[in-house]
Amino acid sequence: MSLTEHRPTPAGPLRSGAGWPLRLLAAATVAPLIRWIVAADSVPGGTARRTGCDNCGTPFGSAGPPLALSPLARCGACRQRIGAPPATVELALLVSIGVLVLAARPAVETVAFAWWLLCALPLFFVDLAVHRLPDRLTSAAAFGTWGLLGLAALAGDSGTAAGGGADWLRALLAGGAVAFVFAASTVLLGRRGFGLGDAKLVLSSAAVLGWFGWGPVFLGLMVAFVAAALTSVVLLVAGRVRWSGHLPFGPFLILGSMVALALA
Ligand SMILES: [Zn+2]
Repeated sequence: MSLTEHRPTPAGPLRSGAGWPLRLLAAATVAPLIRWIVAADSVPGGTARRTGCDNCGTPFGSAGPPLALSPLARCGACRQRIGAPPATVELALLVSIGVLVLAARPAVETVAFAWWLLCALPLFFVDLAVHRLPDRLTSAAAFGTWGLLGLAALAGDSGTAAGGGADWLRALLAGGAVAFVFAASTVLLGRRGFGLGDAKLVLSSAAVLGWFGWGPVFLGLMVAFVAAALTSVVLLVAGRVRWSGHLPFGPFLILGSMVALALA
């Protein structure tokens, strides 16, 4: 074996080993932003976004002490817990970086998937906290992902041998088709079906996986269903929820999509 036969290193900092410091720096920069969105949007539907500590009113974000948006997740003035639990957003970001590394896609595609993850992480924590998926996040995820995957196709990237153009159309079709089935279940089954927020979330999550073919779309959904079912059983046995209880499905959809994306 000659030294020249090694696997060619893909171009660009996003795919080289030297990209790790860049990735970690990006994660350290966006973690407070995600914490801000989670704290602001984890409110009941129809109410104004939260702008400060529930206990003492100290604003978080640029106007307040930075402690609230740090991994400690506490108000800088009164130490009340704020937003997502301590260190969870930071851990989720590390897992997301791992997903992008495992997926190992060209630069423009990686930007598209990073955008989806950037929208999906706040959705994950907001749905866990208040059982809703705000439209502004699901629509930013959908339009951003569709547009960036279109750019990836124009840049010559592709998810399958069919080529970027066909992959982009399949991605849009997958997002639309799965969202239609979810929305139909809401109309037909009411609260026993999926939520409309879930239908808007799959517009982007199924598009991400549809870029790679129909197999990853089904894998992502299966992982979500199995994980949700197992979690329900565990919570029922532990007496944490009742049969009538409603488990938010968004976090499972995001988890399943991340698994399928990492394996794509
Ligand atoms: Zn406070």
